[in-house]
Amino acid sequence: MTEDDIPLLTEYRNVAHDAQTLTFLPRDTDLQLEAVEDLTEFIQTVNARQQEAIEHRDEDTANLLLAMRCGCKAVRAELNMWLALKKQDWGNAWSELVDAQDFLQSAQAAHAITRTEDIQNLREKYDWIETFVFPPQTYLSPGLVVDQFLCSICGADYQDCDHIAGLPYWGQICSRIIEEATVREVSVVDEPEDKNCRITHFSTDDGMVRSKMTWEKFVPDDDSRLASLTEGGNRFTGIVLQPNGVYSQEEIDTLQQTDT
Ligand SMILES: [Zn+2]
Repeated sequence: MTEDDIPLLTEYRNVAHDAQTLTFLPRDTDLQLEAVEDLTEFIQTVNARQQEAIEHRDEDTANLLLAMRCGCKAVRAELNMWLALKKQDWGNAWSELVDAQDFLQSAQAAHAITRTEDIQNLREKYDWIETFVFPPQTYLSPGLVVDQFLCSICGADYQDCDHIAGLPYWGQICSRIIEEATVREVSVVDEPEDKNCRITHFSTDDGMVRSKMTWEKFVPDDDSRLASLTEGGNRFTGIVLQPNGVYSQEEIDTLQQTDT
């Protein structure tokens, strides 16, 4: 396939280039919001073309369009991160950065067209943002032991099918879906599976609560879910993943360091 045969390639390069001109903190908010809309519209166009490719039994084009879609979603998440930072919405800004990193990884996995130096530079940019814009985070294990995973492509037990998580099939990245899981103790990990699972607050020796993100220290009020943090000292509140795939803020009594 030559570049001329690749559907939507010129449009993709233009929309991505225009949006990336705006992925900096001082850029105008309204222009950034417009770029988010443009990307969303283009992602829908790519979706439609991908459906056509699947109907024509053209897996390579479907995966190529998946790569474009993931690339657009990464840039959109980065724009949303800068917008959230302007609103001092630190937690969401962090989640958008994690999304941007994940989408970029999927873009690179989906097709060779996005395994370029530009994309590699973007990965490095996101790593720099993680290190120099946000304070260091403490990550948590999901707190689950998964008893069974299902394959997102064929729906079978992941152990029994031939699909491989992280690889593209017909315009979708294969992932493992939690079917059955048991909750266990949450532990601190250095290499997290999911950077959304992190400590958000911790109790200080003087009975106060400190935000891990902003370093603000405050008296836990009775209505707050942080209230019982005052009881024993050295307790934490963190975000963990529930067996149903939903994130929730939980109090954590004991933490153990796990070497991974
Ligand atoms: Zn499968």
